[in-house]
Amino acid sequence: MRYIAGQAKEEGCIFCNRLQRNDDVSSLILHRGRHCFVIMNLFPYNTGHVMILPNLHADDLDQLSAETLHEMADLLPIISRSLKRVLNCQGFNIGLNVGSVAGAGIAEHLHQHVVPRWLGDANFMPIIASTTVMPELIPSTYAKVRAELHREVTHDSSVRLVVLTRDDTRFALIGGTLPTVVADSDQSIWKAAFEHLYPWATEIEVAGWSGPTLATASSSAGDGTGLVLRAQINHPDLLPSGTTIVEYNDDVLGGLSSSDRSALRRGFDHLSPRMRP
Ligand SMILES: [Zn+2]
Repeated sequence: MRYIAGQAKEEGCIFCNRLQRNDDVSSLILHRGRHCFVIMNLFPYNTGHVMILPNLHADDLDQLSAETLHEMADLLPIISRSLKRVLNCQGFNIGLNVGSVAGAGIAEHLHQHVVPRWLGDANFMPIIASTTVMPELIPSTYAKVRAELHREVTHDSSVRLVVLTRDDTRFALIGGTLPTVVADSDQSIWKAAFEHLYPWATEIEVAGWSGPTLATASSSAGDGTGLVLRAQINHPDLLPSGTTIVEYNDDVLGGLSSSDRSALRRGFDHLSPRMRP
């Protein structure tokens, strides 16, 4: 995964470039709607800071259609519910800076900020002044939030899991397939996954996304989402019956369903390079 930080200044609009690139995991695009998309802010004011943008490269509200404005508004409760479940945040700052005079960092393409807040977190302005980024957390937060947004839009609470050993060389199969879990209505997908694996897997972390690359909601049920988890696999006696921990190689991949195989390949592709074997 590559980040904007440290790269040469790119040509054109960074938002339009990402929308056209069709690599939503690297671009941190969380959702593609009909007229708008949702992207993670790489330089967040707070964890889980996302932005809603019109697909149209527009610098003024007058240029947006009614459908676009309605969709931007419709996305707010969807994002708010998703972020609350993922991050347990208690409030939000939501806003548009229209024009550079109003503080818009990239004024040529309107973007509406949604910034999660917690009781006792720092005041808003100091957060802006000392923005810190922990890039190793970005793939994890991206995967958690994208899974939750997908669930909100499709009403599908299931997720397929790629469960890796801590050295990223082996993964878990249950009955010859990747494990899947269905979250309860008030439970986040990632927490449901952690509970599903305990106690045979512990010290679990969300390591990335293994669902489809493009963040459109039209993917067929069950195949639209996927998390990569990295975990300590405990004593074999604790494993549910039918569970095997196997190496990631062509022989093993050849014996799996095509959807499991795709999920594994994408999961390994989307692990940040630092973490890859
Ligand atoms: Zn643009």
